[in-house]
Amino acid sequence: MRILVINSGSSSIKYKLFKMPQEKLISKGLIEHIGEKGSVIHDHYAGLKMILEKINSFGAVGHRVVHGGEAFQRPVLIDNAVVRKIRQHCSIAPLHNPANLAGILACKKLLPGLKQVAVFDTAFHQTLPDYAYIYGLPYGYYQKLGIRKYGFHGTSHEYVAHEAARRLKKPLHRLKIITCHLGNGCSIAAVNKGKSVDTSMGMTPLEGLVMGTRCGDIDPALVTHIMRKKGLDIAGIEDILNKASGLAGVSGISNDMRALLSRAKAGNKRARLAIDIFIYRIKKYIGAYAAVMGGCDVLVFTAGIGENQPEIRARACRGIFDYFKTKPAILVISTDEELMIARQTYGLIRED
Ligand code: ADP
Repeated sequence: MRILVINSGSSSIKYKLFKMPQEKLISKGLIEHIGEKGSVIHDHYAGLKMILEKINSFGAVGHRVVHGGEAFQRPVLIDNAVVRKIRQHCSIAPLHNPANLAGILACKKLLPGLKQVAVFDTAFHQTLPDYAYIYGLPYGYYQKLGIRKYGFHGTSHEYVAHEAARRLKKPLHRLKIITCHLGNGCSIAAVNKGKSVDTSMGMTPLEGLVMGTRCGDIDPALVTHIMRKKGLDIAGIEDILNKASGLAGVSGISNDMRALLSRAKAGNKRARLAIDIFIYRIKKYIGAYAAVMGGCDVLVFTAGIGENQPEIRARACRGIFDYFKTKPAILVISTDEELMIARQTYGLIRED
């Protein structure tokens, strides 16, 4: 069976078509500039129509959905109730869920009757214990407002954890794995016996590691302090923390690790500092997650920086495993979130 995987963003739709269960990639592509000024592609419906002109005959569609909250612990067949729930989660993922939903609704319109599956970035982390996901805030905020850690990049963490076990020829349920997804957005997960037990992103993708333009963990009192000092409103501070911080904010140069490494080599101090902060935070999380799991058998690096920057990997690992009885295997695995979505979609369709 052929499965179409759709990753629908605010102004772009990425797609991949797989032949399953062989997991063979048949075609892939990207439609950009949706809804932008001067673009001929006015909305997601038009974008998807262009994709469907290029490909045909597939048995189901798998959609990436960023936030499934507590409602979705695994992939689900999309019906009206699922659409309603995804819409409800737009308020806690305003940058992502509306775009994901636009792709789903366009598909429903263009392909009526075809089975569609939603695969959530948050689902893999639904196995976190309560003491890892509840913040030290009034408990009613969790009960009434759903304020808790959800975690993201779940499809990527799950994919590389499975792939690590496969490569090492060991059962996943026997392994303590720390997976480091280091792209523009960065997160780390502790995967014990195949289940996510902690992860660095939080209620939103802002928590945790220092990222391309996001600050990661900071003193929460800084938010109001900066608002007062700089006269910022809510949108203003959100913008600073999400878009003007991280590697770009510290270096004042770029959010791109390649640019920073070359500037640091040329002697730029702020580029070097941004890289040092980035690595230091990774190291702290690896240490914390090894402590949480009582050890680490495998450390996996993935995504743009994780896959392509040996210097960052080496520095993040330097010295941290001296206290371990056995040194963990360190693997570099190319993530493939679309393949994971195709696998899960195919699995669900077969069960149905
Ligand atoms: P996204 O999170 O947007 O998918 P990526 O996973 O592509 O981002 O990661 C972007 C980061 O990875 C950038 O900092 C970039 O410098 C780095 N990166 C991507 N490709 C390479 C490469 N071939 N060599 C070195 N660094 C790379």
